[in-house]
Amino acid sequence: MTCGERHFKPLVHYNKGGYAFNAVRLFLWLKLMRDLKFPVALVVCLLVGALARPVIAAEAPVMLEEMTSTELRARIDAGATTAIIPIGGTEQSGPYIALGKHNVRATVLARMIAQKLGNAVVAPVVAYVPEGSITPPAGHMKFAGTLSIPESTFEDLLVGAAQSLRQHGFRNVVFIGDHGGYQKSETRVADRLNKVWARDGKARALALLTYYDVTQEPFIADLEKRGYSKAEIGLHAGLADAALMLATDKSLVRTEALAHGPSPTPAQGVRGDARRATAELGKLGVQRIVDTSVAAISDFAAHGAPPTTSKASK
Ligand SMILES: [Zn+2]
Repeated sequence: MTCGERHFKPLVHYNKGGYAFNAVRLFLWLKLMRDLKFPVALVVCLLVGALARPVIAAEAPVMLEEMTSTELRARIDAGATTAIIPIGGTEQSGPYIALGKHNVRATVLARMIAQKLGNAVVAPVVAYVPEGSITPPAGHMKFAGTLSIPESTFEDLLVGAAQSLRQHGFRNVVFIGDHGGYQKSETRVADRLNKVWARDGKARALALLTYYDVTQEPFIADLEKRGYSKAEIGLHAGLADAALMLATDKSLVRTEALAHGPSPTPAQGVRGDARRATAELGKLGVQRIVDTSVAAISDFAAHGAPPTTSKASK
């Protein structure tokens, strides 16, 4: 027999209950069922079930790609009316960090932000972004693996994705961008959408620049306070960048080579020295990104767009 599914204290919105259910426990339940009359056993079972500690607490689904269309419909109808569009990019980060850095990091962080919000869904990550001239190659395009698309194509893509989400019933569409170079595009796109959407007021778009900005001065100050130099913290694939990657998905960092290899140079596409980067340092940045983003999105959903700024690039 089964004690049925239970709902525990929600982590975000709701949990599917999981139980420490092993062979010994099964045997005891069967024995109880045999020894006691069924109704008595059922009452005991329900009582004990209520006290059972969940082993796996599955959170409300937040990733659009992992849901069926009907599951998504139900989530929207139940009040999940904020959609986050994570923007990554496919870009070189030197010899020790994989080309998917921005894509993976934006997706992991978007998931964390959505889970904490409780009423948000994460759209598929945008992996193709403007990285400058292709031929002749500019900036990161000089290194194998970087993929670049025209800025106008990128902005049109964001517009189409946001319009689709609005069509399905999302009321707040939020862009979060992991790379510095296209922050201005996010603002342009949100302005473009809000101009049109203001006509019926059904939805609004937000370019959440603070998602990126908080990894600049505040996170860098955290690292400096712990004794790391500006040169080491770096601007691209340095200590700050690598620490954030380690804290979000360490499989993208070649930790062995990083620990024992030489520090790459700007000529190798790196600005900074990531050799002393750790996941613990990265968690400081993750915490800042998630907390700041959740507060800003909540504020936007309640009052409209907060003032935003954007600096630096990585
Ligand atoms: Zn970048």
